[in-house]
Amino acid sequence: MPDETPKLPVGRFAPSPTGALHTGSLATAVASWLMARSAGGRWLLRIDDLDAPRQVPGMADDIMQTLELFGLCWDGQVSRQSSNREAYRHYFSKLCETGLVYPCGCSRREIAQSASAPHPDDDCIPYPGTCRCGMRTGTTVRSWRLRVPDEQACFHDLHKGMICQDLGGRCGDFVVRRGDGEIAYQLAVVVDDHLTGVTQVVRGEDLLPSTPRQVYIQGLLGLERPVYCHIPLVTGPGGAKLSKRDNLVSHHLGNWRGKEGYLLLAVLRFLGQGLPHGMSGAPCDEILRWAVGCFDATSLPAIGGELAI
Ligand code: GLU
Repeated sequence: MPDETPKLPVGRFAPSPTGALHTGSLATAVASWLMARSAGGRWLLRIDDLDAPRQVPGMADDIMQTLELFGLCWDGQVSRQSSNREAYRHYFSKLCETGLVYPCGCSRREIAQSASAPHPDDDCIPYPGTCRCGMRTGTTVRSWRLRVPDEQACFHDLHKGMICQDLGGRCGDFVVRRGDGEIAYQLAVVVDDHLTGVTQVVRGEDLLPSTPRQVYIQGLLGLERPVYCHIPLVTGPGGAKLSKRDNLVSHHLGNWRGKEGYLLLAVLRFLGQGLPHGMSGAPCDEILRWAVGCFDATSLPAIGGELAI
């Protein structure tokens, strides 16, 4: 008999240990925790530690301690991308079986020089397809790219609605494995979320442009697509980008150690969640207990803004 039991959601938070937790990530962590917990689901923690040169020693522990400070407890063991390399290799081989993966000898500089249109520097430089039909003689493999069709990749975002991206025009054939053998972010997160049974991906909207590529990979590998929800970013005054330092949770806490509840309430206000009177000064676990009971995803803000502390 088919199992009719409704599946409880599995959410996750996946910080990269490149620095201490900042307020934007805290807001994302809170939103994702509440979305999973309010539906009785599980919440997992994964440390995205594949990009060794960008990591700062001790930051994974620092991030975990900060999450604990706010009462954001996770289920089970913390997973680490660096322990998943065998699984990545397996799924990379599966992707190669589609015939759509090819080695590429182009450097970033060459791609930037040949790009016909200005490119959003935070995302990708559109790849002109130079090595699609083979690498030039004398060049070495710098990456493996996944060929994309001249089509839109679309998905429904819980918060933003239907999102479509022209895969060919935006990034072109994109990197799934680097020259040094390390699996690229786009493929790694798809594999991680699949292996851990994640059904809800709640993350900052800075990652929204990556999602169509991840959805494309899921389709090729026949993997289930999680529900996506991209949250607007915490900004400085007037929407200005916050400096790294000013944005750190520890900077905001300042002398307030032991009064994290105030910052948590500010995060909940930022997330559009109504707050009861009398919560000011309450400990985090009490605030979270209350917030989980009345979390409303439809109240998430349309645009980012400041944390009003
Ligand atoms: N590790 C990524 C980051 O910190 C997030 C990955 C994801 O949520 O898919 O930006």
